[in-house]
Amino acid sequence: MSGFMNSRYASLEAYTPGEQPRDKQYIKLNTNESPYPPSPQVLEALQRQDVADLRLYSDPEGLRLREKLGALYGLTAGNVFLSNGSDDILNFAFMAFGEDGAVFPGLTYSFYPVFANLHKVPFETVPLREDFTVPVEEMKGRGKLTVLANPNAPTGIALPLAEVEEIVASNRDHVVVIDEAYVDFGGQSAASLVEKYDNLLVVMTYSKSRSMAGARLGFALASRGIIQDLETLKYSTNPYNVNRLTLKLGEAAVDSDGYFRENAQKIMETRTYTAAQLRELGFTMPDSKANFLFVRREGLDGETLYRKLKERGILIRHFSDPRIAQYNRVTIGTREEMEAFLGEVRAILEEEGLP
Ligand code: PMP
Repeated sequence: MSGFMNSRYASLEAYTPGEQPRDKQYIKLNTNESPYPPSPQVLEALQRQDVADLRLYSDPEGLRLREKLGALYGLTAGNVFLSNGSDDILNFAFMAFGEDGAVFPGLTYSFYPVFANLHKVPFETVPLREDFTVPVEEMKGRGKLTVLANPNAPTGIALPLAEVEEIVASNRDHVVVIDEAYVDFGGQSAASLVEKYDNLLVVMTYSKSRSMAGARLGFALASRGIIQDLETLKYSTNPYNVNRLTLKLGEAAVDSDGYFRENAQKIMETRTYTAAQLRELGFTMPDSKANFLFVRREGLDGETLYRKLKERGILIRHFSDPRIAQYNRVTIGTREEMEAFLGEVRAILEEEGLP
């Protein structure tokens, strides 16, 4: 600490991203990236790029990409906001719409309380039920910014669209953010509700199903008014926050939409396989509609499993929060990666003397 920091931020507890190790090659099942490369069209678009053009700024409006994304979801460019990853959009949402406070589930994406604290937004949390499901009734009519990851993280549990709609409809005087980072792996998107509810903000990302985490591209779908509010904040901080290359690659990804949907399908099949294998080994987990499983094994300490797998070259995500310390979040990789993971899990169970 320098001692020069604005006292407003001095006690801020920052978000801790998942490990991005440099010491050796791991099978990386810890940050919910896709195991597949971006589509061939995206790679072609990259090769077609003239590096000399990097001297030019990107289009701050990202109009072509917004038109394409709007059309993809049956909306217009005016309903689409682009930013540097969906974390950036969530940050703007807390900044823009949190004046009356915020509410989100007690166990969810751990960045939400960080954004709330950053913008001095007082927040309440709604405890999950014993089985980790969101008690929908308690998310209704809260009189504040309401934030819901659907599917939720790190549980992977999805709410049906009808229940999401109930939450949106009961909060008409405040913005409801539906964070759909994982929606393409079996969830139901609220994008179809955007025209009906002017308080709905659906946040999506290229980082998971579209295999472009490193490109940093997130987008949001909402009424024109909400998009304009977000634009005010973007133009007050960094109008060029999506770079030229990423805009182009983002367009190519929309043009090859079927490619990522096929990959998502493969990941869902691998998820079903991995879940069945883990259950045979005595693991329990909620039903996941995301590209990860949230797993525990009676008798096997969560941190021990994480550490032993890391020693064997496999990274999964362990959380220190005592309520979930016996769990680990395991990203679904390729079938081969999951076979390697399962093989090491079997070896660890044996080593620990667990039947
Ligand atoms: N929402 C959720 C629920 C996430 O898990 C993540 C990834 N950590 C994000 C948003 C942010 O993703 P990105 O900034 O890469 O779009």
